[in-house]
Amino acid sequence: MRKVLVFLTLIGISLSFFAGAVNAKNNQNEIPEVDGVYNDPGHSGLKIRVIVHRAKPGPPPEPTLQCDSITDPGSTAVVTPAGWKLPPTWTYNLNPTSVPSSVGGQYLADFAASGFSEWRSATGNKVSFVQGSDTTITRQAYDNQNIVAWGRVSSQNALAVTYIRYYQGGEAVDVDTIMNKKYAWSWADQSQHDLCAYEDTYDAQNILTHELGHWVGLNDHYTSEYTENTMYGYGSKMEIKKDTLTQGDITGASNIYNNN
Ligand SMILES: [Zn+2]
Repeated sequence: MRKVLVFLTLIGISLSFFAGAVNAKNNQNEIPEVDGVYNDPGHSGLKIRVIVHRAKPGPPPEPTLQCDSITDPGSTAVVTPAGWKLPPTWTYNLNPTSVPSSVGGQYLADFAASGFSEWRSATGNKVSFVQGSDTTITRQAYDNQNIVAWGRVSSQNALAVTYIRYYQGGEAVDVDTIMNKKYAWSWADQSQHDLCAYEDTYDAQNILTHELGHWVGLNDHYTSEYTENTMYGYGSKMEIKKDTLTQGDITGASNIYNNN
């Protein structure tokens, strides 16, 4: 009996010694990332000074507004239909909280309405866009919400992806646009800064208005005669010309809603 007790005591002592060593190691890992002087829990009397190097506080420098050399030429190259149309009333749902702070979520409703208004006119007022309740969704889904949100886009070099669920040759039933949050975005309000854009960034209204052209049923075009069209397939930094439509974009939309 006594031998067993001694044995158990020895095990207890060695276990507590081991636990103490592990504990000291854990404590060393728990030195806070905060300026100060700390006792090294593993070495009695040893001090640890922690110095944190910080970025200068305050907002990052304002991106520069460029107005020279920014133009908005016309184009008569007619954009082709992609195979669907919207019903006469189409409700959209915005996700303002997903908008990058460099754009400002409070402006999303304004510039989205401008984009929808351009396309409404282009259809000859055959489609009315109605702003529905805001959403917090950031992914495409067949969920009876037609969303505009910033979110994860994994497709390479994709500024935005629009998903259209539709019946071939018929009407769309669910449309979502996801803007790629990994890119640098800005928004130059053309009512304040006519033909100006922020350097080194993609203009949110410019890219969104292009995406809304897919909502109404238009294709992308990549050939040189379409470079000035809103439905030109590539987006560029410091581009605002797609805020408005060219005659070729308007004729394309009109053909979908007025010739069929
Ligand atoms: Zn496109």
